[in-house]
Amino acid sequence: MIIDKIPNNRQRICLIGSGIAGGSLAVKLAEKGIGFTLVEAGGLNGSSDSVGYENVGRQFGLRSTTSIQLGGTSNLWHGVLSPLDEIDFQEREWIPNSGWPVTLDDLRAYYAEAAEMLNVRDYAYFDTEGLSEDLKAKLDDMKFNRGVLKNKMFQQPLPEVNFKDKIIPLVEKSDKYHAILNTTALKLNLDSNWKIISLTVGFADGSTGLIEADVFIVSAGALETPRLLLNSGIDNKNIGKYLMDHPMGNLCQVQFRHRQKAHIYSAMRYISDIAIKTGLELTPEKQKEMGFPNHTFYMRPSFKKGVNNETEKIKLSLLAFKDGGLTAADVWRVMTNLNVIYQIVTYKLSLDTTYKYADLFFVTEQIPSENSFVGLSDKKDKWGFPISRVNWQVSSHDIEVMEKWYTLLKEQALGEDDYIFTHEFKDINWNKFFTSAAHHVGTARMAHSADKGVVDKYLKVFGTENLYVCDGSIFTTSGNVNNGFTISAFACRLAEHIRRMQ
Ligand SMILES: Cc1cc2nc3c(=O)[nH]c(=O)nc-3n(C[C@H](O)[C@H](O)[C@H](O)COP(=O)(O)OP(=O)(O)OC[C@H]3O[C@@H](n4cnc5c(N)ncnc54)[C@H](O)[C@@H]3O)c2cc1C
Repeated sequence: MIIDKIPNNRQRICLIGSGIAGGSLAVKLAEKGIGFTLVEAGGLNGSSDSVGYENVGRQFGLRSTTSIQLGGTSNLWHGVLSPLDEIDFQEREWIPNSGWPVTLDDLRAYYAEAAEMLNVRDYAYFDTEGLSEDLKAKLDDMKFNRGVLKNKMFQQPLPEVNFKDKIIPLVEKSDKYHAILNTTALKLNLDSNWKIISLTVGFADGSTGLIEADVFIVSAGALETPRLLLNSGIDNKNIGKYLMDHPMGNLCQVQFRHRQKAHIYSAMRYISDIAIKTGLELTPEKQKEMGFPNHTFYMRPSFKKGVNNETEKIKLSLLAFKDGGLTAADVWRVMTNLNVIYQIVTYKLSLDTTYKYADLFFVTEQIPSENSFVGLSDKKDKWGFPISRVNWQVSSHDIEVMEKWYTLLKEQALGEDDYIFTHEFKDINWNKFFTSAAHHVGTARMAHSADKGVVDKYLKVFGTENLYVCDGSIFTTSGNVNNGFTISAFACRLAEHIRRMQ
């Protein structure tokens, strides 16, 4: 049923949020026949203002980074997918607060389940070894030192999955799977044994109600999940801490000494409904030797010498085009900038373009720090509960490493027989121009124990009996890939964990 009041028949699971995590959980729980009541703050269309936050930190730099509606931010995303690397899960002595309580091997089967749900045709294509011989050969189109850099593969099934389209048919005619829309989760109510007995929710008319269930799963996204936990009085000093993202932007530009085509490095459609592309990252050995985080970068073809960060702002305004906020002025700025049109058309139409210049567009792993966090604001929502206070901070360590990265590229990775650096690090003010990638993670991090994090390796909140968190907030470190695929994989794993506990 899709309703806007509390259903009469109580279900075993109460699921809070219907984005990539909540949507994946709904699909997987239903596959296993486990009944749920899904509580969603937004409605069927258009982002709702029932959930908001106060931003006291660095601005994200994008018009929209989340969407409050059925399907959550899958209404805005582009569906670009790639799994985390093995090294991302490891404790790296050179990255403070790194080390997940799970490994890539623990997640592999669930990445495969998530891939199926997200319409990936060939999982093997996430690995360069799994590519067809033809595609493998195309990786050699770009010359670089393979002792320093390696390829990182991305796939984008088209059109991208919107979880709204998956949830509606599930719940529409069902008595077992409910979606309560326009209903905001406000507070989890605990008994003296730290068991959650009910959830207080707020309705659009300002009234409140209680939802009961055996198990509660919070999937409200990394900016909202910590506020729900904090407003519920969950006792854990790590709630909200270690807010991370993928600071992104152009670091420099190179000119190719010999013009060439390197299609797989821009974007390539290999079958009608899947695009594939490769980024470049440091080999794990080099990361360790240099003490660097796991950054990735893309070679974006350009026909203009030099990087213009004002031009980059135009592209950013397009990134969240599905939020409906694109203005006529934005469209005009695009239409009158030939290089932006060239880059967009090359990417979107997957043109086999010839490179003269390439902008090196970085998507960086942010080092987890306590100084970047989500707390509670003095401002309250219409039901009288404090809203989130978001304080995204990127450390000086994160900034400093970028210059070292540039030096490494120049001196060891992109040889002068093949490349001329046309836009150098000194020409760019990285700290000023990088933005968020709309990949908010880390505010209810997974850890071995409560003194280091909020949830255990099965995503259960430490100290509670029946409360789980499953969304971007559980990331211990951010890695360098778009996070939707990993979020969905963890949702598949949690659904299976819940089935086994029955
Ligand atoms: C423009 C754009 C493009 C992107 N492209 C990609 C991409 O190509 N690949 C990729 O992997 N990622 C991409 N992302 C990021 C990706 O969309 C997010 O990382 C992902 O959606 C996070 O999933 P989530 O489940 O944690 O949160 P969300 O998807 O944000 O879901 C949170 C859900 O909780 C609901 N909610 C919030 N608070 C409450 C409350 N109090 N009570 C009830 N419900 C509540 C929300 O309405 C929403 O349904 C993109 C993001 C943007 C903005």
